[in-house]
Amino acid sequence: MAKKITMADGRTIEVECLSCAITSGLIEPAGGTIIETENFHAHQDVAYPVPGLVIVASKRHIHCLDELTESELIECINLVQAIRKAQRDELGIEYVYYFYNEDTTHHFHLWMVPRYEWMNEFGRSVESLRPVLLHARNKMNNKENLDKVFKNIDLLRNALKNYKR
Ligand SMILES: [Zn+2]
Repeated sequence: MAKKITMADGRTIEVECLSCAITSGLIEPAGGTIIETENFHAHQDVAYPVPGLVIVASKRHIHCLDELTESELIECINLVQAIRKAQRDELGIEYVYYFYNEDTTHHFHLWMVPRYEWMNEFGRSVESLRPVLLHARNKMNNKENLDKVFKNIDLLRNALKNYKR
Protein backbone atom coordinates (compact mmCIF):
# COMPACT_ATOMS: atom_id res chain seq x y z
CA MET A 1 0.00 0.00 0.00
CA ALA A 2 1.49 3.34 -1.02
CA LYS A 3 2.18 5.92 1.65
CA LYS A 4 2.47 9.67 1.29
CA ILE A 5 5.70 10.87 2.86
CA THR A 6 6.74 14.46 3.45
CA MET A 7 10.49 14.81 3.13
CA ALA A 8 12.65 16.98 5.40
CA ASP A 9 12.90 19.56 2.62
CA GLY A 10 9.14 19.72 2.17
CA ARG A 11 8.78 17.51 -0.91
CA THR A 12 5.86 15.11 -0.74
CA ILE A 13 6.22 11.74 -2.37
CA GLU A 14 4.18 8.58 -2.54
CA VAL A 15 6.08 5.30 -2.20
CA GLU A 16 5.39 1.69 -1.33
CA CYS A 17 8.46 1.53 0.89
CA LEU A 18 10.64 4.50 1.85
CA SER A 19 13.69 2.29 2.41
CA CYS A 20 13.36 0.83 -1.09
CA ALA A 21 12.96 4.32 -2.54
CA ILE A 22 16.10 5.60 -0.80
CA THR A 23 18.37 2.58 -1.29
CA SER A 24 17.43 2.27 -4.98
CA GLY A 25 18.25 5.93 -5.58
CA LEU A 26 14.66 6.90 -6.42
CA ILE A 27 14.80 9.40 -3.56
CA GLU A 28 17.99 11.27 -2.76
CA PRO A 29 18.12 11.71 1.02
CA ALA A 30 18.94 15.27 2.14
CA GLY A 31 22.71 15.40 2.54
CA GLY A 32 23.11 12.54 0.08
CA THR A 33 24.41 9.02 0.44
CA ILE A 34 27.12 8.57 3.07
CA ILE A 35 28.30 5.21 1.78
CA GLU A 36 26.84 2.46 -0.34
CA THR A 37 27.96 -1.17 -0.63
CA GLU A 38 26.58 -3.96 -2.79
CA ASN A 39 23.69 -4.71 -0.42
CA PHE A 40 23.54 -1.75 1.98
CA HIS A 41 23.07 1.99 1.95
CA ALA A 42 23.91 4.54 4.65
CA HIS A 43 22.44 8.02 5.00
CA GLN A 44 21.22 10.47 7.63
CA ASP A 45 17.55 11.20 8.20
CA VAL A 46 17.86 14.96 8.61
CA ALA A 47 14.29 15.08 9.90
CA TYR A 48 16.03 13.98 13.11
CA PRO A 49 18.97 16.40 13.03
CA VAL A 50 21.34 14.75 15.48
CA PRO A 51 24.85 15.43 14.14
CA GLY A 52 26.52 12.18 13.09
CA LEU A 53 23.32 10.10 13.15
CA VAL A 54 23.45 7.40 10.47
CA ILE A 55 20.82 5.00 9.15
CA VAL A 56 22.08 1.79 7.55
CA ALA A 57 19.45 0.17 5.34
CA SER A 58 19.52 -3.04 3.34
CA LYS A 59 18.81 -2.75 -0.36
CA ARG A 60 16.68 -5.86 -0.33
CA HIS A 61 13.11 -5.46 0.90
CA ILE A 62 13.36 -7.60 4.01
CA HIS A 63 12.45 -6.91 7.61
CA CYS A 64 14.16 -9.37 9.93
CA LEU A 65 17.77 -10.06 10.78
CA ASP A 66 17.34 -13.76 10.08
CA GLU A 67 16.41 -12.93 6.47
CA LEU A 68 19.93 -11.69 5.73
CA THR A 69 22.19 -14.15 3.99
CA GLU A 70 25.47 -14.94 5.72
CA SER A 71 27.47 -12.77 3.32
CA GLU A 72 24.98 -9.89 3.73
CA LEU A 73 25.28 -10.23 7.47
CA ILE A 74 29.07 -9.96 7.34
CA GLU A 75 28.87 -7.08 4.86
CA CYS A 76 26.42 -5.31 7.17
CA ILE A 77 28.34 -5.64 10.42
CA ASN A 78 31.64 -4.69 8.79
CA LEU A 79 29.98 -1.60 7.30
CA VAL A 80 28.41 -0.65 10.64
CA GLN A 81 31.79 -0.95 12.32
CA ALA A 82 33.49 1.20 9.66
CA ILE A 83 30.82 3.88 10.09
CA ARG A 84 31.22 3.65 13.85
CA LYS A 85 34.97 4.10 13.52
CA ALA A 86 34.47 7.14 11.27
CA GLN A 87 32.06 8.63 13.83
CA ARG A 88 34.81 8.33 16.44
CA ASP A 89 37.76 9.41 14.31
CA GLU A 90 36.09 12.26 12.41
CA LEU A 91 33.41 13.48 14.81
CA GLY A 92 34.82 12.49 18.21
CA ILE A 93 31.70 10.51 19.08
CA GLU A 94 32.37 8.46 22.21
CA TYR A 95 29.17 6.41 22.38
CA VAL A 96 26.50 5.33 19.91
CA TYR A 97 23.04 3.91 20.54
CA TYR A 98 21.84 1.33 18.03
CA PHE A 99 18.16 0.88 17.34
CA TYR A 100 16.41 -1.45 14.96
CA ASN A 101 12.82 -2.68 14.94
CA GLU A 102 11.71 -5.49 12.66
CA ASP A 103 8.06 -4.39 12.56
CA THR A 104 8.99 -1.21 10.68
CA THR A 105 6.60 0.19 8.08
CA HIS A 106 9.62 0.51 5.77
CA HIS A 107 12.26 -2.22 5.62
CA PHE A 108 15.46 -3.31 7.39
CA HIS A 109 17.26 -0.23 8.70
CA LEU A 110 19.52 0.23 11.69
CA TRP A 111 19.69 3.56 13.48
CA MET A 112 23.11 4.62 14.75
CA VAL A 113 22.40 7.48 17.17
CA PRO A 114 25.40 9.28 18.68
CA ARG A 115 25.15 10.06 22.35
CA TYR A 116 25.67 13.71 23.37
CA GLU A 117 25.77 15.40 26.81
CA TRP A 118 22.50 17.25 26.18
CA MET A 119 20.69 13.92 25.94
CA ASN A 120 21.24 13.16 29.62
CA GLU A 121 18.20 15.23 30.58
CA PHE A 122 16.08 12.61 28.80
CA GLY A 123 17.53 9.79 30.85
CA ARG A 124 19.92 7.08 29.85
CA SER A 125 19.68 3.88 27.90
CA VAL A 126 16.79 2.87 25.68
CA GLU A 127 14.06 4.95 27.37
CA SER A 128 15.79 8.17 26.32
CA LEU A 129 15.88 7.36 22.63
CA ARG A 130 12.40 8.48 21.56
CA PRO A 131 12.42 11.73 23.60
CA VAL A 132 15.91 12.50 22.27
CA LEU A 133 14.82 12.02 18.66
CA LEU A 134 11.66 14.09 19.18
CA HIS A 135 13.68 16.85 20.84
CA ALA A 136 16.04 16.87 17.86
CA ARG A 137 13.14 16.95 15.38
CA ASN A 138 11.18 19.65 17.18
CA LYS A 139 13.87 21.88 18.76
CA MET A 140 17.07 21.46 16.76
CA ASN A 141 15.75 22.17 13.29
CA ASN A 142 17.71 25.44 13.06
CA LYS A 143 20.33 26.61 10.60
CA GLU A 144 23.28 26.41 12.96
CA ASN A 145 22.55 22.80 13.90
CA LEU A 146 21.63 21.76 10.35
CA ASP A 147 24.94 23.21 9.11
CA LYS A 148 26.69 20.95 11.59
CA VAL A 149 24.57 17.95 10.52
CA PHE A 150 25.46 18.47 6.84
CA LYS A 151 29.13 19.09 7.65
CA ASN A 152 29.23 15.84 9.60
CA ILE A 153 27.61 13.95 6.71
CA ASP A 154 30.42 15.25 4.47
CA LEU A 155 33.09 14.26 7.00
CA LEU A 156 31.70 10.74 7.29
CA ARG A 157 31.32 10.35 3.52
CA ASN A 158 34.88 11.54 3.01
CA ALA A 159 36.27 9.26 5.70
CA LEU A 160 34.52 6.25 4.17
CA LYS A 161 35.27 6.92 0.52
CA ASN A 162 38.17 4.44 0.48
CA TYR A 163 36.28 1.77 2.44
CA LYS A 164 37.07 -1.66 0.99
CA ARG A 165 33.71 -3.12 0.04
ZN1 LIG B 1 11.55 -1.88 0.94
